[in-house]
Amino acid sequence: MTTRRIVVLGAGYAGLVAANKLLRTVPGAEITVLDARARFVERVRLHQRAAGQAIPEWDLADVLGRRGIRFVQGRAVGLDLAAREVRLADGAALPYDTLVYALGSAAGTADVPGAAEHALAVATPEDLADAAPPTGRALVIGAGATGVELATELAETRPDLRVLLLGADEPVAALSPRARAHVRRVLDRLGVEVRTDAKVTAVTAAGVRLADGTEVPGDAVLWTTGFLAPPLAAAAGLAVDGSGRVRTDATLRSLSHPDVYAVGDAAATAGQDGRQLRMACATALPQGAYAATAIGARARGAEPREFRFRYQAQCYSLGRGDGLLHLVHADDSPARLVITGRAGAWIKERIVRFAARRAGLPAGL
Ligand SMILES: Cc1cc2nc3c(=O)[nH]c(=O)nc-3n(C[C@H](O)[C@H](O)[C@H](O)COP(=O)(O)OP(=O)(O)OC[C@H]3O[C@@H](n4cnc5c(N)ncnc54)[C@H](O)[C@@H]3O)c2cc1C
Repeated sequence: MTTRRIVVLGAGYAGLVAANKLLRTVPGAEITVLDARARFVERVRLHQRAAGQAIPEWDLADVLGRRGIRFVQGRAVGLDLAAREVRLADGAALPYDTLVYALGSAAGTADVPGAAEHALAVATPEDLADAAPPTGRALVIGAGATGVELATELAETRPDLRVLLLGADEPVAALSPRARAHVRRVLDRLGVEVRTDAKVTAVTAAGVRLADGTEVPGDAVLWTTGFLAPPLAAAAGLAVDGSGRVRTDATLRSLSHPDVYAVGDAAATAGQDGRQLRMACATALPQGAYAATAIGARARGAEPREFRFRYQAQCYSLGRGDGLLHLVHADDSPARLVITGRAGAWIKERIVRFAARRAGLPAGL
């Protein structure tokens, strides 16, 4: 199998790390990165953008072009797996020998009636592109990491809003009691109202409806749960899981099509304990790097070692002045060390910047 033409589909964290590393692992290969966006936007800062803050962006043609990587701006609308071509919205086709599928994820609002019409998803830059800033009473749906980051950011940046955080469980329920208690204190301090046991079954122009029939009024509904991978892989006939992620083996190669590797949110890969790795920058970055190594090994006729991944920490911003770093065990369960407050905020900011550097995005923009 030749690897002369490698196409990286998606210039998010996973795709950029893979493309940059492929320069070294497959010298002489023709590497093309395709993305619908002209600019890289830090997805992990979108809660800041939703709260009205400016966040950094990078020009992809410039960043990749400086390294000799070809960038094509365009939307992939189909994959011809037999002909080994990516089909673009403008009718063009990108042929490949090896494809790195790194299309990330987007909001999964489709199965909740009214959500697509009335809720503002905080999942991709496009979701926020033409959105009016929230006013009055803002309902943040989902009390996981993104919901808590968004609720605290909104409450701190926009004291004119009344913020209500709605979750099926208590906020960041999987963390240790100490970490959960800190998150609760910060939410209280910022005046965020919290409602647990609140499963949203419908979104209306006036707010949301819960599973128990309660109507919760709100002027804005911000959606943070249930990210889904794009439908492209399933439509093309790649083996996928229930949320559209490409099922891979332990070398991140598609189970159905060995010339396709999948990385980041768009990949369904089992961790060491057999559970699927979660959608996170923390998994996307090492997966992107590993895929480049595996492709390089096979290009030399060698069989790569399996992808081995262990979680290290979970890290949240709680507004600009507070944050939380929680060390975790290899399986992502909470370990003892928790750092909170200003130190937590400082570490979180460093991690976000580190992620951008790791993706090859220059500092100082
Ligand atoms: C508000 C928020 C906060 C977050 N905070 C954290 C955090 O603190 N820590 C953490 O680990 N994770 C966090 N995440 C999750 C993290 O952003 C994702 O897991 C990560 O971005 C996944 O990287 P990726 O490269 O797989 O996909 P993405 O970063 O989503 O990149 C996918 C790329 O594919 C492109 N694309 C998609 N479809 C097409 C198409 N059809 N044609 C062409 N291009 C296409 C997109 O334009 C995009 O550039 C957060 C997410 C959000 C929304």
